[in-house]
Amino acid sequence: MPDCIFCAIASGDIPGRVVHETEHTLAFLDVNPLASGHTLVIPKDHYERLDEVPAELSEELFGAVSELVPRVEDAVDADATNVGINNGPAAGQEVDHVHIHIVPRFEGDGGAPIHAVAGERPDLSDDEMDDIEAAISA
Ligand code: AMP
Ligand code: ZN
Repeated sequence: MPDCIFCAIASGDIPGRVVHETEHTLAFLDVNPLASGHTLVIPKDHYERLDEVPAELSEELFGAVSELVPRVEDAVDADATNVGINNGPAAGQEVDHVHIHIVPRFEGDGGAPIHAVAGERPDLSDDEMDDIEAAISA
């Protein structure tokens, strides 16, 4: 994909601090880390949204994430990690190539849980929850 910074890293056209590679995935350090060891895991091919990633590749991608989490934590002596995806611009996705953030966390680091990412919480009735449950299950 022309002009995609992560495609350029995957193809070796621009440098990245690569920490892990499989046949179809790559992991490298975030250039503007939220914490020491902040790592991004991507499919080498360009997909914008998570649901576009084929199932087999998704397995390889999340397999790489699972393998990397303890390695990242050990490398920077972290107490925990937040693992997350900004899936679409409204969710804060700035680079439109699917990537999974692994953000190391440390006791007392002043950060927040993943619950802090959303806006105002909705006050949903049981009926509304029933409708949502049915819509997702359908
Ligand atoms: P997102 O808001 O989820 O799209 O996050 C994009 C992330 O990519 C940000 O955390 C950036 O710091 C990171 N980033 C942007 N350009 C590069 C680059 N050339 N190498 C590594 N990380 C990058
Ligand atoms: Zn790309």
